[in-house]
Amino acid sequence: MIRIDIISLLPELLESPLGHSIVKRAADKGIAQINIHDLRDYGKGSYRQVDDYPFGGDAGMVLMIEPVYNLISDLKKRVSYDEIIYMSPDGELLNQNLANRLSCLKNLIILCGHYKGIDHRIREHLITMEISIGDYVLSGGEIPAAVLCDAVIRLIPGAVSDETSALSDSFQDNLLAPPVYTRPAKFMEWEVPEVLLSGNPKLIKEWQDEMALERTERLRPRLLKQKSDS
Ligand code: SAH
Repeated sequence: MIRIDIISLLPELLESPLGHSIVKRAADKGIAQINIHDLRDYGKGSYRQVDDYPFGGDAGMVLMIEPVYNLISDLKKRVSYDEIIYMSPDGELLNQNLANRLSCLKNLIILCGHYKGIDHRIREHLITMEISIGDYVLSGGEIPAAVLCDAVIRLIPGAVSDETSALSDSFQDNLLAPPVYTRPAKFMEWEVPEVLLSGNPKLIKEWQDEMALERTERLRPRLLKQKSDS
């Protein structure tokens, strides 16, 4: 069971992506527990202020240290966390390897930034890990956090109904997945590869391995290099 506490200024943005499909089923089965915390609840004063102008006079607003510190401190009173993650465009790039590593942990905090970012002292003193979902900038950390949770949770045994299914996905074993087909076997003139209809598991497996390798060579050759390095 993994527990993920997400700190956000826009909890509604997380509810839908984390409230369906595999992630929801994992939560229902008790495999994953996701708690969403509204940073605004820890805001200062009657306006529940959570952001302020940046020192040095740049444009945009910066998340303040105090509400984040107080919320994380409260969480830490009850739980000992393996990682306190900040979603950030300059963090470690998320890939399947990192998702695999995180899926073995028990307790995570994920902090979503907004606006211009967060007071850098939070990153220096409270955050233990920074993760990016790609080299582009989004408006907030909620979508990146939802992406991270989905990638991690589907790897936990029992989350995906057929347990072997997550293991045969692309990037596991540094190979892309082979193509898949379903009925009808013939649609207009477009036919399913004959071998898949042969009923011969050995031939089917050979074909799938061959296709996985061919697609990886063509679409992600660097994965094969990583495979030979490991
Ligand atoms: N000024 C910052 C970007 C802030 S974007 C910079 O130039 O680096 C606002 C928030 O969105 C960030 O605090 C972060 O939490 C989130 N975010 C934006 N792009 C992201 C990405 N590619 N990966 C992860 N988080 C991202």
